[in-house]
Amino acid sequence: ELERFAYIASHDLKTPLRTIISFTGLLERDFKRNKLDSFPDYFSYVKEGAKQMNSLISSTLEYSKVNHETEIEKKKIDLNSVVEKIKRNLLQTYGESTIIQKGNLPSVFAEEGQMTLLFQNLIENGLKYNQEDNKMVKITAKETPNSIQIIVKDNGIGIDPRFHESIFEIFTRLNKDGEYKEGTGAGLSFVSKILDSVGGRIWLESEVGEGSCFYFSLLK
Ligand code: ADP
Repeated sequence: ELERFAYIASHDLKTPLRTIISFTGLLERDFKRNKLDSFPDYFSYVKEGAKQMNSLISSTLEYSKVNHETEIEKKKIDLNSVVEKIKRNLLQTYGESTIIQKGNLPSVFAEEGQMTLLFQNLIENGLKYNQEDNKMVKITAKETPNSIQIIVKDNGIGIDPRFHESIFEIFTRLNKDGEYKEGTGAGLSFVSKILDSVGGRIWLESEVGEGSCFYFSLLK
């Protein structure tokens, strides 16, 4: 797993680095020729590349932090209040016509930061990858004797079943840069790593154009 992670992380970091190397090269060439008309453009590509590298490195650091037992303080957490907080923030970002519906959610024994990250990523993705005028995400829960199942359903663009596994790998993004609100493709890898660490699992049902429904289980 570590080898695969190192491969993906270094591969993806090379893309913005290539941009930086080539445009600093062009800047150097033009500087020597005393011809700096393209300076603003080249310079902004270098800056963009550096910014992108910065967010990829931050995501990599965050990813390595999930699961550090020493930093985890578990307690009883009411998932209703976790989701309410996220909901308030997202409604501000995504506007009045957005609907985030929540059923009655149970309490779990977990770490609050991890639960927040988990719900935040799933709910925000449902709004982010969504072209409807009335974007909607619905969060409900089902209890079984040993586990709790949470369902996060959206009316967004949907996901081709061919990618239902790879979206959980770090830095996987299915849409072109700039098409949707920015991201690094790390969110769902955090989600799946958090669930691994608490003995839960995640899966989804989705087709392109038909919204997505993510299911995850948490042990009681
Ligand atoms: P990010 O949002 O930063 O790109 P994620 O790891 O959260 O990273 O998601 C990976 C990719 O999976 C996204 O870039 C997007 O293409 C796709 N995706 C995730 N959630 C959804 C969703 N609810 N609806 C449609 N596509 C999604």
